Amino acid sequence: MPEPRAQPVTKSRNPTTPKFDDQELYNLAAKFGTPYFLIDEGVLRKNVSEIEQAYQGFKGPFRVAYSIKANFNPAVIKTFVSEGIMFDLTAANELYFLLKCGGSPENVIYTSITETLAEFESLISRGVRKIVVSSYNGLLNLIEATAKVGGQVSVLIRVNPEVHVKAELRFSLRHGKFGVPLDSMGEDSAMFMLRKILETPSLNFDGFHFHLGSQVEDPSCYSEALEKLEAFILGARRTLGEFPINTLDIGGGLPTSYGKSVPAPADFSARIMEQLSSLAESFGNKFTLIVESGRFLSADSTVMVSKIVNVKRFNENKYVYLDAGYHDLADAALLRHEYPVEVVPGGAVTQQKTVLVGRLCDSLDVFATSSRSKLGGAEVGKIVVFRGVGAYSIVLGSPFHCQPKPYVHMRDAQGRYSIVRRGQTIEELFDEEGGALPDPAESRE
Ligand SMILES: *Cc1c(COP(=O)(O)O)cnc(C)c1O
Repeated sequence: MPEPRAQPVTKSRNPTTPKFDDQELYNLAAKFGTPYFLIDEGVLRKNVSEIEQAYQGFKGPFRVAYSIKANFNPAVIKTFVSEGIMFDLTAANELYFLLKCGGSPENVIYTSITETLAEFESLISRGVRKIVVSSYNGLLNLIEATAKVGGQVSVLIRVNPEVHVKAELRFSLRHGKFGVPLDSMGEDSAMFMLRKILETPSLNFDGFHFHLGSQVEDPSCYSEALEKLEAFILGARRTLGEFPINTLDIGGGLPTSYGKSVPAPADFSARIMEQLSSLAESFGNKFTLIVESGRFLSADSTVMVSKIVNVKRFNENKYVYLDAGYHDLADAALLRHEYPVEVVPGGAVTQQKTVLVGRLCDSLDVFATSSRSKLGGAEVGKIVVFRGVGAYSIVLGSPFHCQPKPYVHMRDAQGRYSIVRRGQTIEELFDEEGGALPDPAESRE
């Protein structure tokens, strides 16, 4: 096993925020209303190549997998389909979206939390062949599904390396909602499940998967997880004999810059490249390395544009009211993190502290801002641009306060703008909430 290495110099990544023309932002607002989201297709593509370049030095096949849950807008999915990358799915309904967008089941790596028989049957019958299991019960369901539907399935085990992860969202804690432990022998352990997979004819053991968390800012977490995994594999080979490792999937978690600098994909790969190469060598076969990403791939491609609809001065504060709220940016509200925010066009900063608040009747509906945000010149009628909102925001939107889903626009590589999700009308929202159903008294079940 390689010696622990000194931390490489961090290249650190600053925001690659797309540059949208101010006038264009106002034009879209005038034509289609606010708030709205605007995605830059070019940034989505650039992010794919940034990860691919970071792992160029890996001595085996390498694949990027987009975690569709971060943003499942069909235009985003189609962009990634055309990049030829893989897709990390966690729900059978996500497969529906992917296939509708021209994606292929061969490019899917499927990690389920629920792991039900019906789910596995539906996946296998639609051609998914790479499935990650995370519990013994789930493995038994998968075996039953292959018996019913037929066909060979490649299986990875999701392990929980139980490393201490410095991240906004941690998935590798000891409590273990995700994955199975490396150091236990019960049914829900990597060892027990590996043995079961190796003795099941309808399954091909494919490799290991772990996912440490989201917005992970410390590359050494991956190195620690790989060390634990390597030790496990060596031990398992002594017990079970040789078994192939075709895939090693080190999960997601690459951080995006929310206005402050974070390590780049190249900083992560630099930290673990030697370890990966030595793993590939000591296991005698060149496994495919998969890096998953939702947040890094999608976040900085997108801005949300909102309009200032009211202003109030109260003691030392200037309250600036937007027509958006935390129902549009639930991820930020959940994590209490700050998106870089900018009043457009900007103006002089006043003595009074600017407090940016949303439209909801909820005292929590206040946007986190710091000196990184540019709030000077905030006046009624101007727009406010939230940057880096492409991941876990559009997909978490809710109609709280009878607010219809906002428009989503995209600027393509040629600079053309198009609607990639129509804004909902208030009539549609009413109907979808049950307004179009007959009166309950006339339609008892
Ligand atoms: C959510 C998720 C990811 C993506 O995480 P990011 O932080 O968005 O990169 C990757 N793998 C799995 C299994 C996930 O559940």
